[in-house]
Amino acid sequence: MGLSGLKYLVVGSGFFGSVMAERIATQLKEKVLVIEKRNHIGGNCYSLDDAETGIHYHLYGTHIFHTPNPRVWEYINRFTEFNGYFHQVLTTHKGRVFQMPVNLETINTFYNVSLKPFEVEAFLKKEIEKENIKEPRNFEEKAISMMGRPLYEAFIRGYTLKQWQKDPKDMPESVLKRLPFRSNYNESYYFSRWQGIPLHGYGKIFEKMLDYDEIEVKLNLDFFKIRDIIPKETKIIYSGPIDQYFDYKYGKLEYRTLRFEREVQPYEDYQGTSVMNYADVEVPFTRIHEPRHLHPERTDYPTDKTLIIKEFSLLDDGSNPYYPINDERNQNLILKYREEARNLKNIVISGRLGEYKYYDMHDTINHALEMFDNLQK
Ligand SMILES: Cc1cc2nc3c(=O)[nH]c(=O)nc-3n(C[C@H](O)[C@H](O)[C@H](O)COP(=O)(O)OP(=O)(O)OC[C@H]3O[C@@H](n4cnc5c(N)ncnc54)[C@H](O)[C@@H]3O)c2cc1C
Repeated sequence: MGLSGLKYLVVGSGFFGSVMAERIATQLKEKVLVIEKRNHIGGNCYSLDDAETGIHYHLYGTHIFHTPNPRVWEYINRFTEFNGYFHQVLTTHKGRVFQMPVNLETINTFYNVSLKPFEVEAFLKKEIEKENIKEPRNFEEKAISMMGRPLYEAFIRGYTLKQWQKDPKDMPESVLKRLPFRSNYNESYYFSRWQGIPLHGYGKIFEKMLDYDEIEVKLNLDFFKIRDIIPKETKIIYSGPIDQYFDYKYGKLEYRTLRFEREVQPYEDYQGTSVMNYADVEVPFTRIHEPRHLHPERTDYPTDKTLIIKEFSLLDDGSNPYYPINDERNQNLILKYREEARNLKNIVISGRLGEYKYYDMHDTINHALEMFDNLQK
């Protein structure tokens, strides 16, 4: 497929680009070229088998599929079956393991008590009142006003410092809006009706989504290398960074990124769970992933070794933008870029990099399905 006469060009083969390409091919029966600057499809959701252990893992960090949305669930099930994996997170603090997010089990173990759910509020109130915070002015004060200082110091402070490399005292209290805190024993990380891990991994989903005669995929091809020779009439669906599309004319949007360190350990099971957080600031990494636990149904994994991946959080240098930084500077920039994007013809700029928003996979898929509906109107 050449560029001449090309009707649809999709930039990026993550969930946003792949859903759009699949819809164009199957619903509009039109040809579509997908270009991807990496050497694989699937964007940040890509997964593959580890060469040394055979254990399937997610190249850009553990990805748990979950959704409350029946349309998304029906759609994704066309490309894969899911195992019954149910996500739970644990955290290590001073050598002891607790449940996360903070729940009744965490509180009872931490304080060595056996509170009932209806006793939690009064119990924590005593701790909270010691601090006498009337109007929380920052992240730290907000957290303390929700759970008291001891729980905050144990489970939130160190982890947040490592994750953002900022003292929670210098972070806005608004960041904490979403901190989940439970006064029952619910240990499920997500409340979504459906969740699981694709039986054969995410990589296979993308192979299937893009496997139509109408779709051609070109890897290792950067949009900016061919931008000048794309015909004017080609409709572009762009899921790369929005600031790059406009040559950073207002400045660069900032992201946090992650660095992963892979290790093989000589045990069948290293930590007994897929994700273990490390709450203490003395431990340099934020989490350890052990991907074998994402596939409890697999009976062919080795019994003499296991793969673990340590995760470190840092500021992105432009190579792997992960988490948008929602501070005032970046919010001002993104508004300017969005305004520019509104004036463009024949191009849709979206996906997590195009919108500069953190989207879960199901949000990304839903967004792409809705965008496709609008494309037809
Ligand atoms: C560490 C981490 C963990 C996550 N965990 C979960 C989870 O557990 N559950 C969940 O639901 N969601 C999770 N997510 C979110 C999930 O990764 C996103 O929802 C999803 O990747 C968004 O898809 P996308 O297509 O918008 O972006 P991406 O997956 O980033 O795809 C964009 C693609 O565009 C390509 N591209 C960019 N610029 C160009 C260019 N100039 N030319 C050609 N190609 C280009 C990129 O290489 C990339 O492949 C996680 C995200 C991160 C960062």
